[in-house]
Amino acid sequence: MNNLNEWQEKDLKYIWHPCSQMKDYEELAPIVIEKGEGIYLYDTDDKKYYDVISSWWCNLLGHCNPKINAAIKKQLDTLEHVIFANFSHKTVINLCERLSKVLPAGLCKFNFADNGSSAIEMALKMSFQYHYQTGNPQKKRFMALTDAYHGETIGALSVGGVDLYSEIYKPILLDIERIEAPDCYRCPYGHLHGECDCPCIEKAKQTFEKFGNETAALIVEPLLQGSAGMKIYPPLYLKKLRELCDKYNVHLIADEIATGYGRTGKMWACDWAGISPDIMCLSKGLTGGYMPMAIAITTQEIYDAFYADYLEGKAFMHSHTYSGNALACSAACAVLDILEEEKIIEKAQEKAIYFHNRIKEKFANHKNVGDIRHIGLINAIELVEDKAEKRAFDSKNRYGYQIYKKALKKGVLLRPLGDVIYFNPPLIIEKPDMDYVIDVAYECMCEVLD
Ligand SMILES: *Cc1c(COP(=O)(O)O)cnc(C)c1O
Repeated sequence: MNNLNEWQEKDLKYIWHPCSQMKDYEELAPIVIEKGEGIYLYDTDDKKYYDVISSWWCNLLGHCNPKINAAIKKQLDTLEHVIFANFSHKTVINLCERLSKVLPAGLCKFNFADNGSSAIEMALKMSFQYHYQTGNPQKKRFMALTDAYHGETIGALSVGGVDLYSEIYKPILLDIERIEAPDCYRCPYGHLHGECDCPCIEKAKQTFEKFGNETAALIVEPLLQGSAGMKIYPPLYLKKLRELCDKYNVHLIADEIATGYGRTGKMWACDWAGISPDIMCLSKGLTGGYMPMAIAITTQEIYDAFYADYLEGKAFMHSHTYSGNALACSAACAVLDILEEEKIIEKAQEKAIYFHNRIKEKFANHKNVGDIRHIGLINAIELVEDKAEKRAFDSKNRYGYQIYKKALKKGVLLRPLGDVIYFNPPLIIEKPDMDYVIDVAYECMCEVLD
């Protein structure tokens, strides 16, 4: 282990970092961050990093955003937290009232959790219980797409389809009906993204025909399969899934944990398809990346199926200690203020055009760049060994990881997904910073691959 400072030594003494092979830290020590400002992070040696993955996609409006900081400080001196069964507070009520004005039509009942995976668990349980209590106890299965990611708890991991996270746990996971997801880069029908009428929906149709009657819900990441390598599919496919769900009395659960809050260029990814899910899960951008909070939001119809005299036993007996946390809600309200007052999403959409064009100019002609896909400010560059055949590199090379290490040296936080380099920056990123991170990412890619 080379030249660790005292903080890095103590970190490694105590901490088991998430989603990491800790042995890798022998070569790449933990970076101890002292402070954050806007899209920048500064470590204990005052080295600056461009956080262009929004600290795992949650930081929406920059680190230490003055308005969010002020809102939390104000809340802190009034009320930090209160039991949420039978008790409430003004900040959470305000949040729900404001969200209900911008959510897809019909979503009106808010059930709080403290992380994304828990909101997914809540959605699955809620859907099953709804059907159980409305005369369809046989509806106890779930459908999900291949390559899906919905979190790490047992239920959420079960509906997920990324082997890297779930393979080893398969013996203890739920049995899920898996629908082959659209793949617009390696389209088996030979179409280009968005230039087809989604013949791949046929796979979903077949699964619904077979299992629709015993299925409670289909869960999807609308439009963007993030952890799968930022795979993007057209709104039409989502619309068709909605129609199938309606036909078979299957709930559509939209996991907007990563896609919500303007990440795709509209407030919700569902807005592109003009659809409403039966349950929508939010987290990440919800508090601007400040506090662990999540919500499963549902319809009056689902809510009503739980509404009965106590002794009928129909209540949703699900709780989290930190449900409706007041500090998190104060951050969430500030996020909505800022989005509205500063027209953040509209401006981000303008910047997104510039960002994507610059990335295309820079990367498209490289021999190993197979695909460049984008939605909102999110841009992903898939590296391949053979461009014509779209053949992936052997993952043992860990090219993405090598690029990550090089970029860190130059102060850019990329964290590729396998061999997919991506940018998912805070919506407030400005053009000079875009230029800088594109240049650094390109340089590092060339250093590794050429
Ligand atoms: C991050 C994420 C989750 C899980 O949220 P956690 O807060 O990490 O549990 C679920 N679904 C999607 C799409 C995500 O991006």
